[in-house]
Amino acid sequence: MEKVYNFCAGPAMIPAEVLKKVQEELVNWNGLGTSVMEISHRSKEFLAVAKQSEKDLRELLSIPSNYHVLFCHGGARGQFAAVPMNLLGDANTADYMDGGYWAHSAIAEAKKYCSPNAVDITCEREGKKAILPASEWSLSDDAAFVHFCPNETIDGIEIRDLPETDKPIVADLSSTILSRPIDVSKYGVIYAGAQKNIGPAGLTIVIVRDDLLGKAKQEIPSIFDYTVLVDKESMFNTPPTFAWYLAGEVFKWLKELGGLEAMKQRNDAKAELLYNFIDSSDFYKNDVHVDNRSFMNAPFQLKKPELDSKFLEQADAAGLKALKGHRVVGGMRASIYNAMPIEGVQALVDFMRQFEQENA
Ligand code: PMP
Repeated sequence: MEKVYNFCAGPAMIPAEVLKKVQEELVNWNGLGTSVMEISHRSKEFLAVAKQSEKDLRELLSIPSNYHVLFCHGGARGQFAAVPMNLLGDANTADYMDGGYWAHSAIAEAKKYCSPNAVDITCEREGKKAILPASEWSLSDDAAFVHFCPNETIDGIEIRDLPETDKPIVADLSSTILSRPIDVSKYGVIYAGAQKNIGPAGLTIVIVRDDLLGKAKQEIPSIFDYTVLVDKESMFNTPPTFAWYLAGEVFKWLKELGGLEAMKQRNDAKAELLYNFIDSSDFYKNDVHVDNRSFMNAPFQLKKPELDSKFLEQADAAGLKALKGHRVVGGMRASIYNAMPIEGVQALVDFMRQFEQENA
């Protein structure tokens, strides 16, 4: 089979080494004669997977001991509802920073539970899309928490700073978790759908600080109640066991490669290669200011948009898959999560250079 690089924004690439291992042990996992997805989540074998994966994730992200790690259902959109239901307490508002499509979607959901203080933090800098520095975000006194999305998967916008606040900071890290070290102690809640940098769709990781438990609304569905999930060790109901196991294999892979500092170096090198090429070309452009360019999702446009479909067809034929930008922004997008090797980005740049030569 020809070499294929998958630039899909999610569900995204899973490391080839992990897939191979999973394939090898699929029908006879751990010598049990069955696959891991056919055994009880309460069996000692699966409990060992659950325990090890949490331990590895804690190690990778240096998660302090006063934080709980939950392996949930419902995706990041489930958390758009779970966060206000769990954290509002008696408050009727929370600060929601609006920096792009996903932050905006979280606000729409939060409106079902409170009157969010939605703050547009987008701006223009040197003619490019940018985000206001966190020191300029207008926060309200009566907010229960501050919510933001550090990496906007569709817009290709990244926020690299945090507001100074004594309120819990809640972050949707769906498309950037595990791509570089972060200081977990600065957050109240972190959540992420798995299907980009963690593993297959169907699993959602939530990291919640201990003092934020016990505030959930009475009517919250139990499977979204952080306190219930902590008490039941993410097994209030049947968890997505296969996705959980596979995420555990991805965590082992990350550790073997040197953890998140090593990932940061890999990811920086990949993003630099791609953005430097785009910036050096008169044929392609990216409209996000360098201060806020995403390391994970790089949108780019052809200066001749009439060539978009030709570009996508030829790229696909060359084994460079899923480069079409999200329907709300158009153009192209290369998602270059942890599992994308630098060779894949180099292959994309080589293709783009050749396409430019043939079509400029
Ligand atoms: N937040 C972000 C930043 C995302 O990229 C996505 C998915 N693309 C979502 C939320 C929604 O995730 P899910 O489909 O898991 O609900």
